[in-house]
Amino acid sequence: MDKYAVLKEYFGHREFRSGQSELIDHILSGCDVLGIMPTGAGKSLCYQVPAVMLGGVTIVISPLISLMKDQVSSLVTAGVSAACINSSLTQEEYAETMRRVCGGECKLVYIAPERLGTQEIDRLVASVDISMVTIDEAHCVSQWGQDFRPSYLHISEFIAGLPRRPIVSAFTATATDTVRDDIVRLLGLHEPFSLITGFDRPNLYFSVIKPQNKYAELRRLLDGFGDKCGIVYCLSRRNVEEVCEKLNADGFSATRYHAGLADSERCANQEDFIYDRKRIMVATNAFGMGIDKSDVAFVIHYNMPKNIESYYQEAGRAGRDGSPAQCILLYGAMDVRTNNFMIEKSREENGELSAEEKDIMLERDRQRLKDMTIYSTTAGCLREFMLKYFGEKAPSYCGNCSSCVNGFEEVDISVDAQKIVSCVFRIKQKGRYFGKNMVIDVLRGSDSARLVSFGFDKLSTYGIMSDVPIHIIRAELDHLIACGYLSFTDDEYPVVELTPASAKIVKERITVKMNLPKKAPKSSRRGDNSSYADDPLFEKLRELRSRLASEANVPAYIVFSDAALRDMCRLRPVTREEFLNVSGVGKRKAERYGDDFCRLIGEHVRANPDEVVVHEREDDPLQRQLDSLREHVVGRASSAPRAWSDEEERQLSDEFSQGTAIVEIARNHKRTNGAIRARLRKMGLIT
Ligand code: ADP
Ligand code: ZN
Repeated sequence: MDKYAVLKEYFGHREFRSGQSELIDHILSGCDVLGIMPTGAGKSLCYQVPAVMLGGVTIVISPLISLMKDQVSSLVTAGVSAACINSSLTQEEYAETMRRVCGGECKLVYIAPERLGTQEIDRLVASVDISMVTIDEAHCVSQWGQDFRPSYLHISEFIAGLPRRPIVSAFTATATDTVRDDIVRLLGLHEPFSLITGFDRPNLYFSVIKPQNKYAELRRLLDGFGDKCGIVYCLSRRNVEEVCEKLNADGFSATRYHAGLADSERCANQEDFIYDRKRIMVATNAFGMGIDKSDVAFVIHYNMPKNIESYYQEAGRAGRDGSPAQCILLYGAMDVRTNNFMIEKSREENGELSAEEKDIMLERDRQRLKDMTIYSTTAGCLREFMLKYFGEKAPSYCGNCSSCVNGFEEVDISVDAQKIVSCVFRIKQKGRYFGKNMVIDVLRGSDSARLVSFGFDKLSTYGIMSDVPIHIIRAELDHLIACGYLSFTDDEYPVVELTPASAKIVKERITVKMNLPKKAPKSSRRGDNSSYADDPLFEKLRELRSRLASEANVPAYIVFSDAALRDMCRLRPVTREEFLNVSGVGKRKAERYGDDFCRLIGEHVRANPDEVVVHEREDDPLQRQLDSLREHVVGRASSAPRAWSDEEERQLSDEFSQGTAIVEIARNHKRTNGAIRARLRKMGLIT
């Protein structure tokens, strides 16, 4: 069987996603590989497909039991023989698993790194031929990563001790250059083929909200998500408990998770969430690694996390199956303080590091927190900011983040910049620096007693920006800080200071431009699956799925992902053959579930002969982006997606002929301009 046959037969997919094919080919040719792909990109397939095809057994080293269990259930449901060896097995289960594994009955064996070097693994190695060792979450080998696991350091020793050196493949979602080098070195990869796919997750809608009242905002958001499930991340255990308690009191189906709970409660709560018995998981960052739940529709951060790496990883747990999902950050200025405090505290706790190493870590953590703060306050495209942070090129308009959806425009703020910098300068002349609020108050001409007591109402810059809204001044001030024209200390009493570059603003009067929100924000209509949520068939399919899942005692998403259910709504298959065309349906699943689903769909179609099915092809981020580009160009949300006015057409073709936005989109989606042209023609945009 070739890799395409394996993909369809076991996993039910027709095409490989970006990067998967290359990694698989290299593995099959005997190369070591390192795959760096964002969460949800489909790393598992990159080693599971070759594992099925290679002669012997593949050992997968994975850091968490929950992660292994999930992967093994998925594989077994798909018809691949797999097992895991870990401490959660009973005596009998363990004996039975060892019998199967050592008898060569399993193609994939998942083990925790702590097990390496134990007797049972020695027995395993002596009984079967190991074709490949795969290291999942490979960044755990580096102490510069976020989830260092000392036992990962024994992996290279284990590999070296095998009778024949197997292919070694390593995978991770986040890796800076340092971590990447560590992975190659510490795992002992031999001239690995490395592949980094783009970090972009086009199906995720990113948004930052600065609410007056966080809890009220959270409630409003959760109401909007109906019965979809999602995660609410908080910074502290206390916060988790408070928020979870309030939500339950307000009638939401919520559970909680943090490191301070007893193991048994954590485990039970996690299962409640995974098996859809609880809709909302309120948790600290202790929750999530190894959670493969593919239908998480939203991840809300109740507090700003400590860096962009963590944020992207946590937010990335939404929409793993490619369905539209939302990542919302509720930002409050206090979050910066709390994080600073936690960074200082972790310095004291990091016992095994030298003083010098601690200083380096501290400096790095502070810088990362600053970047996170800039993300939380930027008026520009959020996706662009993050992708650039990870070293990728990105267009300045993504069409699927709060900045882009609300709209912003590039504005020349040179004059405001001069006013702001001279204000800081005037305040400094009075003897000392102050925080952002004081600078803003002086510019706005506030009559606060504190301001007057310092005599700042006599400054020449007092009230010179009284006509500018406060959030705009704040955004401009943040922009000047981000560009280095001013600096912002982050000690206990943070103050705005002048920098050597400040002179460029006041003396050289250089031009400063920035993206500012447009005046009247449109309401967001992103990230919903409304056309499916409204489809009565979708609801029926979901019910059937939960019934089958609970009969098999597996989470619903192991049976079929939401994406697969939506594909059923679109295709409405009524025979097993047609059912095999559904994305995510392989041979085993078609045999096992096909009849039930086809019967249900058949009944539905017969009962509703007049129903018109209008679903677009699922998961087409390009189409979504083109749609929102049109919205951006035309400047208003259109309720009838396919109807184009002459004016709209003209404007978009203008934009196209200027070759700006669309070329960027083409590049971003790795399509040729020709392909985009064809698409635009089909959309009736160009002739
Ligand atoms: P990762 O480990 O990179 O976070 P997973 O391996 O868990 O991602 O895959 C995420 C989701 O993407 C799964 O629901 C999986 O079924 C789906 N997926 C993976 N590869 C493909 C593909 N080639 N076509 C369609 N769906 C895919
Ligand atoms: Zn954007």
